[in-house]
Amino acid sequence: MDSLVPMDNEVQQGFETLAIHAGQEPDPATGAVVPPIYQVSTYKQDGVGGLRGGYEYSRSANPTRTALEVCLAETEGGARGLSFASGLAAEDALLRTVCRPGDHVIVPNDAYGGTYRLFAKVAQPWGVEFDPVPLGDIAAVRAAVRPDTKIIWVETPTNPLLGIADIAALAAVARDAGALLAVDNTFASPYLQRPLDLGADVVVHSTTKYIGGHSDVVGGALIAADPGLGERLAFHQNAMGAVAGPFDAWLTLRGIKTLGVRMDRHCANAERIVEMLTRHPAVRQVLYPGLPDHPGHEIAAKQMKAFGGMVSFRMESEEAAVRVCERTKLFTLGESLGGVESLIEHPGRMTHASAAGSPLEVPADLVRLSVGIEDVADLLRDLERALS
Ligand SMILES: *Cc1c(COP(=O)(O)O)cnc(C)c1O
Repeated sequence: MDSLVPMDNEVQQGFETLAIHAGQEPDPATGAVVPPIYQVSTYKQDGVGGLRGGYEYSRSANPTRTALEVCLAETEGGARGLSFASGLAAEDALLRTVCRPGDHVIVPNDAYGGTYRLFAKVAQPWGVEFDPVPLGDIAAVRAAVRPDTKIIWVETPTNPLLGIADIAALAAVARDAGALLAVDNTFASPYLQRPLDLGADVVVHSTTKYIGGHSDVVGGALIAADPGLGERLAFHQNAMGAVAGPFDAWLTLRGIKTLGVRMDRHCANAERIVEMLTRHPAVRQVLYPGLPDHPGHEIAAKQMKAFGGMVSFRMESEEAAVRVCERTKLFTLGESLGGVESLIEHPGRMTHASAAGSPLEVPADLVRLSVGIEDVADLLRDLERALS
């Protein structure tokens, strides 16, 4: 053994160490401590087929994107990470790598509206059938399995109802069914929850949200537990072409470095806001997995490090819900989530409008908060004023 090797390869590094260093060794050409933005489409070859460092064309691979992909794989504990132009591009690549027309997918009956639209308006016309099932009910999931079921698709916590699914239990159902368990880990992020450790086969992210963390970039990712599946996904990533560009990859890498400290604050602020909302007379119900009476509380406590920065609540009426959304000042009225700034929205008319009339329709009196990392006293004051 070379005595200069600084770290035993067997040592499992902690999350923040991986987030800051995995895939991000100082640049070999200059020593730059942060991976540069390789804003380039093609690479000089030393003789025909003589690639330096394996790069030939940036759809296939780009060094800035590689840095992000390695970092994503290591922070989720997977064999292979792949980064895409958006979360939905990642979902589409997964769907079309694993499924053929005639196959079947089980999806949550409460999920991101765009995910439902992808299944209902793109995958189904292409020939992939799907069934929305309440994932909290393991027997219902088992009953929905068909011989041609290829994926059990999980979101936990769900968007926007903050439902919790038991990843380990669903992994067992998927294993028995010969299907893949895919977990959309966007709401929790790898800092709070590591689905591959619980038996999932592939993790899906909208890196637009907590991983990017600053509302300045749209991106998506897939992380596969198994190198074979990773290879097949990488083939489709290149063949279909919806890759993340170098600047987007760089912004996302910059975001992931601080994910742990940001997430600690998101969670702490969310807990204070939940405490206020549960006591407020204008609020009918607060949906947050950290509440002991939340039906998924025990499972969330088991599989998550903390309960996250997303909070939903129900008002007495649709009008009251819309009114709150339009009265906050610090909580900005807008779609998306996971950034340092707090956001508020009305899912029924905004993010989940495309699910109207479907099994995924959301209650009209629902308000969703993405609790940011501002001073919590200011956030509490803003919400209390809007509720009054
Ligand atoms: C936003 C989101 C997506 C879609 O990601 P985009 O980056 O917007 O394409 C998927 N799943 C969840 C849970 C999301 O919140």
